[in-house]
Amino acid sequence: MHRFAYRNGVLHAEDASLEAIASEVGTPFYCYSEATLREHLRAFEEAFAGLDVLIAYSVKANPNLAVIRVLASEGAGADVVSGGELRRALAAGVPAQKIVFSGVGKTREEMALALEEGIYQFNIESGPELDTLNEIAGSRGARAPIAVRINPDIAAGGHEKISTGRAADKFGVAWTRARELYVRAARMAGVEIKGVDIHIGSQISDLAPFRAAFEKVADVVKDLRTDGISIERIDIGGGLGISYGEGRDAPLTDDYAALIREIIAPLGVKIVVEPGRAIVGEAGVLVTRVLYDKENEWRRFLVLDAGMNDLIRPALYGSFHAFAPVRGPIDGASPVVVDIVGPVCESSDVFAKERALPVMRAGDLGVFMTAGAYGAALASQYNSRPLIPEVMVRGGRWAIIRKRPTFEQTIAAEPLPDWL
Ligand code: PLP
Repeated sequence: MHRFAYRNGVLHAEDASLEAIASEVGTPFYCYSEATLREHLRAFEEAFAGLDVLIAYSVKANPNLAVIRVLASEGAGADVVSGGELRRALAAGVPAQKIVFSGVGKTREEMALALEEGIYQFNIESGPELDTLNEIAGSRGARAPIAVRINPDIAAGGHEKISTGRAADKFGVAWTRARELYVRAARMAGVEIKGVDIHIGSQISDLAPFRAAFEKVADVVKDLRTDGISIERIDIGGGLGISYGEGRDAPLTDDYAALIREIIAPLGVKIVVEPGRAIVGEAGVLVTRVLYDKENEWRRFLVLDAGMNDLIRPALYGSFHAFAPVRGPIDGASPVVVDIVGPVCESSDVFAKERALPVMRAGDLGVFMTAGAYGAALASQYNSRPLIPEVMVRGGRWAIIRKRPTFEQTIAAEPLPDWL
C-alpha cells in the first residue's frame, strides 16, 4: 500500500499535489511519502511481533538522510555496505549498536571506522576478510562481532544481475566451507562469533528460494553448535520482492515472517532482517515532464525530461515501472501506444516499449510509480545531467531533502591542472 492517489484529477503524495511541488521544484524529481515509509516499517514490525528481531533497513536501497531518519525514528537499524553508508546511517540517527556491515570488499579504513563506532555486527564474506578484521581489531585490543555470510548456492532474485546466492556469485562463503572458517574464527583473538548471515538476492517474488536458503542456514547452525560454536544471531538478509504493477504479485510480509517463524525462530536466536526495497520501493515516485510527443513512420515516442541516469532500473534490469499522468486521465479517452524514452544519448534510455497510455502532450507531467528503491540511489550524472532533487511529503507539507546541484557546484569538484 502507498499514499499516492488522485484527488480532483491530480495525483497527490499524501495531501500534497505533485503538480504544485513540480511547479516549485522543477522536474524531474523524486518524491517520497513519509507515511508510506512508516507504514511499511510497521508492517515488518507487526509481522515479526513477539520475535527478538532487529530490522536493519538496507541503506543501499535509498540512502537519503531524511529517509533513514524517518525509519530510525521508528526504531529501525541499518544494513550498510560501505563507510559512506555507515556514516549516513550514523548521521541520520541510527545507533551504532543497530548497524550491520555487509559487503565483499570492506577496506581496512572502513573496518577501523566501524570498530571505533562500535557497530552491532560485521558480515564476513571470505577468509582473507576475516583475517584482516582479526588483525585490525586485535591491534586495537578489540573483538569484532561477526557473522559469516553463507552462500547457499540457491538461485533467487528478480533478475540475473540481482541474484547473489549462487555458488558462482562473488558473495559469501560456500556453505560447504563455512564450518572450517568458523572453526578458524573461533581461535582468533580479534573476532567474536555472534551469528550466521545470508542474503540470496533482491526482488524475490516467490517464497520457495527463501525456504530453501533458511533450511540450509538452519542446518549450518546445527552443525556449528555440534562443533561447540555458539550462534546467538541469524541475519537472514533482505530481498523480499514487491509488486511493480506489472501484474505479478509479491509475497506478503506476513507469509515471509511466517516462514521465518517456522524455520529460524525455533533455533532460539536473535533475528536480523535487512529489507530495503520492501520498505522504500512503493514509498517513492519519479515525477517527470513530457518534452516531446514524437512520431515517426513506425512508432510514437514520449520523450521525457527524466532519463536512464535518473532511473536506471528499466535500462539495467529490463524492469517495469508503471507510468501515469499527474493530471488524471479523462474517463473514456482512448489510449495510445507509445515508447516512453528519456533524453540521454544512449539507445538503452528507454523506460517502456509499446505502453498503452492516455494521450500526453509536451508540458504534461507524468510519474513513474514504485521508484523509491534503487532509483535515486543508482542515479548518475551521465550526459552531465545534474542529480535530481528529492522531496519528502508529510501530509500537506513537503520539503526538499536533496537539492539539485548548480552547474557551479558540479564543476567546483573538478580543478583544472595548473598547466592547462
Ligand atoms: N542486504 C544485503 C547484503 C544486500 O546486498 C541487499 C541488496 O541486495 C539487501 C540487504 C536489500 O535487499 P532488498 O532491497 O531486496 O530488500
